[in-house]
Amino acid sequence: MGTKREFGPQRILVTGGAGFIGSHLCARLLAEGQEVLCVDNFYTGSRENLQPILNHPRFEFLRHDVTHPLYVEVDQIYNLACPASPIHYQFDPVQTTKTSVHGAINMLGLAKRLKVPIFQASTSEVYGDPEVHPQPEDYWGHVNPVGYRSCYDEGKRCAETLFFDYHRQHKVEIKVARIFNTYGPNMHPNDGRVVSNFIMQALLGRPITIYGEGQQTRSFCFVDDLVEGFIRLMNSPTEVTGPINLGNPGEFTIRELADLIIELTGSKSTIEHLPLPPDDPKQRRPDITRARNTLGWEPKIALREGLKQSIPYFERVLRGQKR
Ligand code: NAD
Ligand code: UDP
Repeated sequence: MGTKREFGPQRILVTGGAGFIGSHLCARLLAEGQEVLCVDNFYTGSRENLQPILNHPRFEFLRHDVTHPLYVEVDQIYNLACPASPIHYQFDPVQTTKTSVHGAINMLGLAKRLKVPIFQASTSEVYGDPEVHPQPEDYWGHVNPVGYRSCYDEGKRCAETLFFDYHRQHKVEIKVARIFNTYGPNMHPNDGRVVSNFIMQALLGRPITIYGEGQQTRSFCFVDDLVEGFIRLMNSPTEVTGPINLGNPGEFTIRELADLIIELTGSKSTIEHLPLPPDDPKQRRPDITRARNTLGWEPKIALREGLKQSIPYFERVLRGQKR
């Protein structure tokens, strides 16, 4: 399907390309010889994340909000635009849902007109506070539709619905990835996510803030592994639509994460327990059987190794030199 160029680089649209994951994806696509059109409104992303590639001859940046239609010509679309950390997506929850839903409609409309494949950055949040563990793709989830996380969870669920309806109704080639907690360089240092929070607190010698008892679990994927999964999924055969879990099946309690970060930074930080936020999922671990079988993909970088590669980035941020 589609108007994919037979020769030369593909021109690839990355929405949300100035964000944490998007900036790594743009860099990787350029390294593979592709042309990249990065679209972002800098809601949570930044120019600094793009600094190493801003002047690359095959890179182009367009400041644009995906809740408005976009008229460009490209060969593939990666749709990542959406704030991802709870404090960011809860800051303006109506805008969060609009970004997920109107953004999906606009980008799917573009994919339909151009007849090109479109990738959706969905999330493990579609499983909510899961009652099935680990989570396979055929689990429908346990999501509160009216809570503080709903703008994000239900927005992403609705976006998935739109992707599958555009696929069934308009034959759009879709690639839906459900991303589990991901970390690495270029994370927003103050986005409140657990890895960035704990590393910043450890480096500053401040108390490590564990919400609740710290017995809730998460599975943390290093960003390079995730981006490899994105590219394999995008370039998989047409019939591979997803949804497909992308994440690291290694599961850790939040307490274990805190202890590991204290060890790796050599910090003297103490532990401080704070109240658990509402609807905080108790456990989360991807079943990645489908990704293994369909894409031959699995993460290669263990948490300890990935944290070692991430800590120097946060040290540079604290020294005021992001790169
Ligand atoms: P991020 O906040 O760093 O990046 C999101 C980017 O989207 C930012 O650059 C932001 O400015 C941009 N954006 C937001 N609203 C926009 C709009 N209306 N128009 C244009 N651009 C807009 O987050 P991230 O961690 O890089 O996440 C990227 C994608 O992956 C998101 O869709 C997120 O939901 C998904 N995801 C991330 C994780 C994770 O652990 N990081 C987990 C699951 C899903
Ligand atoms: N968390 C914590 N201390 C922090 C930040 C987060 O204990 O300073 C916990 C949070 O309550 C959740 C887990 O860490 O149980 C992961 O939180 P994050 O916001 O990174 O992502 P999500 O909840 O969306 O998986």
